[in-house]
Amino acid sequence: MQLLLEENEIVFNDVSLPICREKGISLEIARLDLIHPVVSGNKLFKLCYFMEASLRAERKTILTFGGAYSNHLVATAYACRQAGVNCIGVVRGDRPALPSHTLQHCESYGMKLHFIPRNIFDEQKNAPRFHEELQTMFGEAIIVPEGGYHPLGAKGASLIMKKITARLPTHVCTAVGTATTLAGLLLNPLNNEKVVAVPAIKNMTDIPERLSYLGCESFSNRLIIADEFHFGGYAKKNDQLIGFMNEFYLSSGIPTDFVYTAKLMFGIIRKIESGYFEPGSRVICLHTGGLQGNDSLPEGTLVF
Ligand SMILES: *Cc1c(COP(=O)(O)O)cnc(C)c1O
Repeated sequence: MQLLLEENEIVFNDVSLPICREKGISLEIARLDLIHPVVSGNKLFKLCYFMEASLRAERKTILTFGGAYSNHLVATAYACRQAGVNCIGVVRGDRPALPSHTLQHCESYGMKLHFIPRNIFDEQKNAPRFHEELQTMFGEAIIVPEGGYHPLGAKGASLIMKKITARLPTHVCTAVGTATTLAGLLLNPLNNEKVVAVPAIKNMTDIPERLSYLGCESFSNRLIIADEFHFGGYAKKNDQLIGFMNEFYLSSGIPTDFVYTAKLMFGIIRKIESGYFEPGSRVICLHTGGLQGNDSLPEGTLVF
């Protein structure tokens, strides 16, 4: 399964901000976002083995779940189009009069959308009975949980580590939603690097349980959770965060998204400022994409 993953070498940007030089830290950003303008990089990795399973089963339909702004839905729609696989997106909420940019992209890639009231979506999305009902409606399908949150998703995300390990990082940093990408980074330790997790969600206390479900065993001596950079919760933002995004773009040339990667970069730069990383550290942050989500901001909010 190609999915743009194998043929694409990852671009690394050296972000030599004055604070990095002052503290003797090398800070690089792995630009998974450059894989595709709409489809964020970590999502394609997480989908890799589900797509492979579909192709092995004569292009069995893929069925997955997500909200109206879900980077995962649009990535699935795109991956399925690339692979010639039919796909169904079960969407949280009633069909809006004017669909979001995200949903428009999904439909343009050929995804069939099925809208479900929010409360039913939240209660039922992982229920086997509900999955059966959906398959009665749409035919047999490979079910991909929301956000690719599944051991197979983590196995796909572990391919990211292979792309960056040659740079011998001391720390690899990622934003966290479902923790599937994080699990991928922890699955195959290569150089004993530390993995720094910055949750985009408030009070995310179940990361260890999530990691064990996703197939990670002994990770505790390699995992650092920096959970004070969620800005109030999932998709919450304030002027400080938007100001940071604009400033970071002007100093580095790198755009971030307000849900995940801006919070990651804000947190890591704060940690560099506070002297958390020893001089000589080689820090790599994953740019997991998500830039399409910025389309939901009022025009003129961002300078990029
Ligand atoms: C989905 C997403 C994440 C979170 O990934 P998980 O594997 O769910 O933790 C991080 N960054 C971006 C841009 C995303 O779209």
